[in-house]
Amino acid sequence: MLRYFSHNQHLKDIFDFPVAKVCIDAGFTCPNRDGSKGYGGCIYCNDKGSGAPYIKKDLSWIEQYENSRNLLLKRNPDTKFIIYFQAFSNTYAPIDYLENLYTSALALKDVVGISIGTRPDCVTSGILDLLRDLSKDTYLLLEYGLESIHNKTLEFINRQHTYGDLLAAYGEAKNRNINVCLHIINGLPGESATDILETAKTVGQLEPDGIKIHSLYIETGTQLYNYYRKNPWHIFTEEEYVEIAARCIELMPQTTVIHRLIGEAIPDRLVVPEWSKNKHKVLNSINKKLCEWKSRQGAKFIPARSFKYKELEIEHV
Ligand code: SF4
Repeated sequence: MLRYFSHNQHLKDIFDFPVAKVCIDAGFTCPNRDGSKGYGGCIYCNDKGSGAPYIKKDLSWIEQYENSRNLLLKRNPDTKFIIYFQAFSNTYAPIDYLENLYTSALALKDVVGISIGTRPDCVTSGILDLLRDLSKDTYLLLEYGLESIHNKTLEFINRQHTYGDLLAAYGEAKNRNINVCLHIINGLPGESATDILETAKTVGQLEPDGIKIHSLYIETGTQLYNYYRKNPWHIFTEEEYVEIAARCIELMPQTTVIHRLIGEAIPDRLVVPEWSKNKHKVLNSINKKLCEWKSRQGAKFIPARSFKYKELEIEHV
C-alpha cells in the first residue's frame, strides 16, 4: 500500500472512470526566453521547454491530443483525459487567446479537465479570474514552477523570479479557489540536503493542492550541462535520492496530492543520473523506505502558525 496520496488515487477519488493525463505543446514560448524577463531560460531547460519527451512538436496541439487519445483508448476504451498544457509557459498570451484555447480543449471529445503549467510571474488578475471561472465547471489545475524557496538558487539557475513572486501568485490563485500544484527540484547545484528539506517544509506549510517533486537530471544541450562539465558536483545516488524524496513526503500535509516524485529526461540526452531512467524502481524504493521507517506522508508536517493569503505572510514554527 502506498504511504502517500498519489495522483492516481486522487483521480480515482474524483472520477468513477479511468483518467489519463495527456501532455501537450500548444506552441507557447516563455518570458524567460524571449527577453521579457530574461534570455536563455532556466539553466536546465531544453529546447522543448521542459515538455514531456514524447511530445511531437510538429503536430498541432489538437493532433497531439488525438494521437495520444487514440493510443490510450486502445488500452482501455473507457478512458477520459486531462489535457496538460505542459511545455513552456502556458499562460503567456492575451486573455482572449487563452480563453479560446482552454475552452476549446475542454470541448474536445473525452476531455474532463485541464492542467496548466506556468511561471508564478506569468499570471495576471485577469488570467486568474478566467481560471477561477473555468474551475467552477471543470477539473482545472494550475501548476506553478517554483523549484526552490532559496532566492540564491533561483538566481543561480536563472529563474528570473523570486520566492516572493511565488507567494504572491499562489495567494492570488488560492484566494480565487483555484487548485494549485507547486513544482520543486531536488538536487540543484549549491543546495544541501538541509536546503532541500527547508524547501519541502516551507512548501508543505503552504498546503498546496498538489506537489511535483522532481529529481534533478542533466541533459546535453542545456546550460546546466555546460556548467556540469566545467564544475561537476555530487549528483545524488539512487539511495540518497530515495531517502531525500521520502523525507520530503513526510513534510507534506496528507491533503496534498503527490503528482510526481522523479524527473524524466529525454532518454538519449540524459547525462546523469542514470538511475532516473528507472522510474518505477525508484518510486517503489521511496515507498519501501517510508514502510521501513514506519512513516508516511504528513508524519513530519509542521503546520504554519499563520498563513494569510491576502497579506502574503507566512510564519514558521
Ligand atoms: S520557466 Fe519553464 S519554459 Fe521557461 S525557461 Fe524556465 S523551465 Fe523553460
